[in-house]
Amino acid sequence: MIAFARACAAIAATASKLEKIALVGDYLRGLDDGDLAPSTRYFTGNPFPQAQDVSLAVGWRTLVEAAAATWGVDDGALSVAYRATGDLGAALGPFVRPSHDLGLFREELTPARLYALLLEIADAAGKNAQKRRRILCERIFSACSDPLEATYVVKIMTGELRIGLREGLVVDAIAQAFARDPRAVRRAASAAGDLGTVALAAKHDALDQVTIAYHAPIAFMLASPIAYGSEYKELAATGWLVEDKYDGVRAQAHVTPNRISLFSRTLNDVSGSYPEVVEALRALPGSCALDGEIVAVRDGRVLPFRFLQARLQRKDVAPELMREVPVRYVVFDALARDEEFLLDHPLADRRARLAEILVTLSVSKGGADDTLVLAPWTALEAGATAEAVHERFEASRARGDEGLVFKRTDAPYTPGRRGKAWLKLKRELATLDCVVVAVERGHGRRVNVLSDYTFAVLRQAQDDNELAVIGKAFSGLTDVEIAEMTQWFEDHRLPPEEARAAYERLDLKRHEILIEPSVVVEIAFDIIQKSALHASGYALRFPRIVRLRPDKRAADADTLERVAEVYAEMLAREGIDG
Ligand code: AMP
Repeated sequence: MIAFARACAAIAATASKLEKIALVGDYLRGLDDGDLAPSTRYFTGNPFPQAQDVSLAVGWRTLVEAAAATWGVDDGALSVAYRATGDLGAALGPFVRPSHDLGLFREELTPARLYALLLEIADAAGKNAQKRRRILCERIFSACSDPLEATYVVKIMTGELRIGLREGLVVDAIAQAFARDPRAVRRAASAAGDLGTVALAAKHDALDQVTIAYHAPIAFMLASPIAYGSEYKELAATGWLVEDKYDGVRAQAHVTPNRISLFSRTLNDVSGSYPEVVEALRALPGSCALDGEIVAVRDGRVLPFRFLQARLQRKDVAPELMREVPVRYVVFDALARDEEFLLDHPLADRRARLAEILVTLSVSKGGADDTLVLAPWTALEAGATAEAVHERFEASRARGDEGLVFKRTDAPYTPGRRGKAWLKLKRELATLDCVVVAVERGHGRRVNVLSDYTFAVLRQAQDDNELAVIGKAFSGLTDVEIAEMTQWFEDHRLPPEEARAAYERLDLKRHEILIEPSVVVEIAFDIIQKSALHASGYALRFPRIVRLRPDKRAADADTLERVAEVYAEMLAREGIDG
């Protein structure tokens, strides 16, 4: 492990990514097969293949006790060293002591030998497991002969190398070491879930033979946003499919005959939170890896995300909660089927495979299963107009979904990438056109401009409209717009007499500068709440100024009735009464 440790020290000493890659690559190139896989894994900070679900389970205390027994490290000296370095490996390493009794017979700690011992530690079970783990740690320590080596061996065991290497750099280093296409290495890495296997395959020019390792999560492909109301130029080309954008949590399922795993967007195993989904997946024959979204449903209707929150991060879900917030797994992609890895296949192909997989489900169940469903999709007609896009958008919203996702049917699945092959379209719940009635100076950079607006909607009064304040927001306008508006507001302050009356009428504080109510702004928000805070009786949560509406006069602004309508729609969408 001395050569590994030296490589690590050199990698830690440079900030340059290219140099780091070259150093890792040079080191890997020189290894024999036995050392190559474990060394590559050590660089990733996890000594075991991700797919194998093995963990070292050796605590700090065991390491310290083993170091005391092997090297005679005492607590006092250790805490001084730890305080100076903040790292157990760096603190313990310098205490390494050639062990005299072993003398010439010291076993050499190669990467492969270390791996075998680490596996034994991970495998230790039963009532003497703890003792066994300590003895094995002592064996590892007594095989170290050099402080740097001991430092990095301990670092591997604590899972923190701290040399500024991300997995992506190790992938590039493998490509460089064996002169392979980085894309092929990346693809194999997604499939294998273990860079050790990938390094070996790269060395032997067998990257295309790497197949899927089930139960090791694959990074999710992500969508780039497109602006609602734009001309949708991105969609002009042919070859898009359209799906609803589900308002839930992303989940990747790995199904093998005797094991089901569900991974969250952060690649954590969340199988325990969704027992009914796991149960439904059990009905699938063979093996597969699926991608989709888990949503909360009630009476067949999709509920907004916040209903799902009760289910998140629960290791065990009580039956009452499962009844209260039932969930559905809407599947929209197939990443692998049995031994076949599908990431490189175009989406059209993957969707066809997905349909085949889920058909077996309804056949085996004798009907449609509500917990596991195939995401419906349609093709986007070539040259679809903005109206056509909006029509589809409204239909999605009517189904309780958040908007649309457009996916290129010819694109492969690119793990961890937010590319242009998937586009998402969402819109605020609704926007309200409001009249600016008062302004204030902003903060920080905006202390000299009038950038905070108080705005109102129209309330029908006997003979005329009144204004009812509904909220305040910092301006979301550009600096140029804000500067121009500041000038306009300065020029259109209400004269003192009128202002006095308006403060009363609008129920505003004296530090707000009242202005002539004629500027209309479009306001977006998350939800509408009933509130005594403002004269309108409503408040907006997270209001944002979307844009100025110079095309509208104050009399064209939205009314309190419209606010009540949007509020009612919101409640209806959430399936709650009044
Ligand atoms: P956002 O949370 O707005 O960044 O949107 C991205 C997320 O939308 C993804 O991570 C998915 O969890 C989710 N999503 C919902 N429906 C789909 C779909 N049909 N295809 C892909 N992602 C989706």
